[in-house]
Amino acid sequence: MARYTGLIERYRERLPVAADARIITLGEGNTPLIRLENIPGSTGKDVELYVKYEGLNPTGSFKDRGMTMAITQAVNEGSQAVLCASTGNTSASAAAYAARAGITSCVIIPEGKIAMGKLAQAMMHGAVVIQIEGNFDDGMGLVKEIAAEAPVTLVNSVNPYRLQGQKTAAFEIVDELGRPPDFHCLPVGNAGNISAYWTGYSEYAGLTTRACSFCDDQCPYRSDPVADRLPRMLGYQASGAAPFLRGEMVEGPETVASAIRIGRPQSWDLAWAASRESEGWFAEFSDEDILAAQAMLADKEGIFCEPASAISVAGAMRDIKAARIPAGSTVVCTLTGHGLKDPDIAIRQSRAPVTKVSADLDTVKKAILDNM
Ligand SMILES: *Cc1c(COP(=O)(O)O)cnc(C)c1O
Repeated sequence: MARYTGLIERYRERLPVAADARIITLGEGNTPLIRLENIPGSTGKDVELYVKYEGLNPTGSFKDRGMTMAITQAVNEGSQAVLCASTGNTSASAAAYAARAGITSCVIIPEGKIAMGKLAQAMMHGAVVIQIEGNFDDGMGLVKEIAAEAPVTLVNSVNPYRLQGQKTAAFEIVDELGRPPDFHCLPVGNAGNISAYWTGYSEYAGLTTRACSFCDDQCPYRSDPVADRLPRMLGYQASGAAPFLRGEMVEGPETVASAIRIGRPQSWDLAWAASRESEGWFAEFSDEDILAAQAMLADKEGIFCEPASAISVAGAMRDIKAARIPAGSTVVCTLTGHGLKDPDIAIRQSRAPVTKVSADLDTVKKAILDNM
C-alpha cells in the first residue's frame, strides 16, 4: 500500500487543487472511526455509535483538514502571509501549516480565553500572536477588515478552501462504513464544519440536486433522494453561546467549551441549509453536561477529547434516550479536538484524586490498596 500523504492526494479529484500545485501537508486526515463499546449500553437502546476522532490530526484538531487546502492555495497564489481570528485551534493549525510552507502567520486571539495547549502551539510555530481585549467575534470582524486591504490571505472558514478540505471527513466515513450514517452529530461554533460535512455527504452520494428540474412541488412522482439517503445533521451548542437555538446572533457568548464560544457564526446560512435540507435539528447543553460527557468518554471509552468535542456525544446520547434518534440507527459523532489541548479544565474537573505519599514501599502499597 502506498504511503499515506494527506487528504489532498487521497481525494484530489474531488478538491479544487491545481495539478502542478505545491501541496502543503502534514499528513492530516485518515483519522480513526471508533465504535463506542461501553457508553451506548446506558441508553438501553440498540444503536451503532461511532466517534470520528479528529483530535488525532497533526495539530490535534479537524482544522488541519481545512488548513492544508487553505495554505496550499495561499502559497500557490503567491501569498507571503496568512491571517486568522481564532478560539485557539485555527491559530494552532494556521501557524503549523504556515511554518511548513515557509510563510508568515498572524493570529488574533481573545485574551485569556484560549486553552494553554493551543497558545503554546501558535507560539512554537512562530506565529505573530495578537491577543485582543475582546472575544472571537470581535477578532473575526477585525481580520475581515484587515484582509480586505492588506496583502494577507484570510484563513478562517470564510475562506472557501477551508470547507473544501473539511468535507473530506464525510468522505472517509462513507468509505469506511460503506454508506453514510443515519445521523451525524457535531459541535457548532462558527458553523463551518457542519456545513462542510453536509457538502461532503451530498457530493459523495452524487445527489447534490434534490429533485428533477421538470416538475414542481405538486408533482406526485417527485422524490427526495437527499433526505432519504443522507444523514440527518444534528448540531449542538453550549447554552451560553447558542445563536442557532435563539434564532439570532448572541452578544457576549460564554461557555467552558472555548472552541465554540462564538455568538456570530460566519457560516450561519450554510448551517441552516444543512439542518433544513437534511431534516436535522439543533439542540443546546449546559457546561455541566458538556464536561460530564467529556469525562464519560475518557472514563468509559479511553478517549480524551476537548470539552467542545464532547457536546456531540452528549447530544447523541440524549437524542437516543429520547428516541428522537430511533433504535437501529447508525450514528457518527465528530470529536473535533484532542483533550490534551486543555489540561487545566480536565484536571480541575477530574474526580480522581491524586494521592501524595512518601516514597517507601509500605506507604505506597497501602495508598494503592486504599484507593483501588
Ligand atoms: C473549531 C472547533 C469547533 C467548531 O467548529 P465550527 O466549524 O467553528 O462550527 C468545535 N470544536 C473544536 C475543538 C474546534 O476547534
